[in-house]
Amino acid sequence: MTLTTNFEKSAQEAWEQDRAHLIHPFSSLAANKEEGCTVMAGSDGVHVMDAEGNRFYDGIGGLWCVNVGYGREEIIEAIVKQLRELPFYSAFNNLTNKPASALAAKLAELAPGKLNHVFFGTGGSVANDSAVRLVHHYFNRIGKPYRKKILSRQNAYHGSTHLTIALTGPVYQAGWDGATDLVHYLSAPHSYRRPAGVSEEGFLDFLIQEMEDAILKLGPDNVAAFIAEPIMGAGGVIVPPEGYHKRTFDLCRKYGIFYISDEVVTAFGRLGHMFASFDKFGIEPDIIASAKGISSGYQPLSATIISDEIFEVISRPGAAFFHGFTYSCHPAACAAGLKNIEIIEREKICERVRKTGPIFEKTLHKLEDLDLVGEVRGSHFMMCIESVADKKTKALLPAEANVGKRIAQNCQKRGLIVRPLGQLNILSPPLTLEVAQIEEIGAILRQSIKATMDDLKKDGFL
Ligand code: PMP
Repeated sequence: MTLTTNFEKSAQEAWEQDRAHLIHPFSSLAANKEEGCTVMAGSDGVHVMDAEGNRFYDGIGGLWCVNVGYGREEIIEAIVKQLRELPFYSAFNNLTNKPASALAAKLAELAPGKLNHVFFGTGGSVANDSAVRLVHHYFNRIGKPYRKKILSRQNAYHGSTHLTIALTGPVYQAGWDGATDLVHYLSAPHSYRRPAGVSEEGFLDFLIQEMEDAILKLGPDNVAAFIAEPIMGAGGVIVPPEGYHKRTFDLCRKYGIFYISDEVVTAFGRLGHMFASFDKFGIEPDIIASAKGISSGYQPLSATIISDEIFEVISRPGAAFFHGFTYSCHPAACAAGLKNIEIIEREKICERVRKTGPIFEKTLHKLEDLDLVGEVRGSHFMMCIESVADKKTKALLPAEANVGKRIAQNCQKRGLIVRPLGQLNILSPPLTLEVAQIEEIGAILRQSIKATMDDLKKDGFL
């Protein structure tokens, strides 16, 4: 993309306005003041461009969301067409619109068995917040108002509202309040960091026992739901031991606890399936919360998909449904979602990811020969690199070494955006990456990690 001088000037202005006025989501505001920001300005396929004209592979897919890649004219046209006809109208009470009804029907068709009813929102936090409110409302309606506790896990990430930051593991709660009295935290199914000397099977047994003990201690009648990402995302791309999904699901069934699957990242192709909980891990949740890939980020949109059983109770006469947002069922967002899903189906993106995802995994796993790389983990287009000071003991570098950030900066210099998170670097690129592009990303990562090792040595951290 060629940038005009005017554009560069406006980028400088954007950055100055940003520094003076813009509060960045989930960021170190102090570091931004000191170090400045990259002004993103363009996009194309699997690339993004900054305002100075530098082109990068988008290793993070916007933020785990641009599943079909950039520059999809069809989605843009669908949005514009809808904006021309009816940019917005409320769906409160008896009002509806065509894109929202059509998308709800499509999601009911794609979602597993009894998940046939859809509540639309504007993002993943709203989807999870809604899931918990719906479950609580369900129990109120059937005369069990005491059934309120939610089981979540350390390292979970479920959002950033007062309720969903509480569902999110304690790491992200430091310095902030949240509705934590509603939540009980179980251990993360983190095999790489399991206690030394414990086998993976032994670890799985421990996790399941811990969950059952917690249910019995809280009293099964006080527990409303278990919420889980099929693979934990922002908590470190943690893939649970084989069998974990089925056994946690069975415990939920045993004690009448609803299973909420947070598929905000994993749905719509990222793991090679429309809904990973059912299609990949073989469980049929009571609720699936989805967002991100539902519209590939072209519009803010989320869908909380609930079972017939829950819907039957909450739609009984006798109580109003006091839950909804102005932009629930936004027609332009739903039009984007419909077109995006049409593309995923037409281009067989799930099948494609089932082929290219393992190549991406293999390419990244090759980096494990580098001394700094403790583990590469994840599945398909949801991957993470964990850096360590010592591969054998898995000891971490001190926080001041900022290893994830250094790797991300070295990658950015070489034309790749990856997300730093403490000692981790996360990769969740668009699902349309070609094999040659995957190889190029692997080569950039190798050079960047090597350069980071040199930097760390120079600064006395290695
Ligand atoms: N759930 C998961 C698994 C997520 O990864 C995220 C965001 N990354 C959320 C929920 C919250 O979504 P949002 O930021 O759109 O509110």
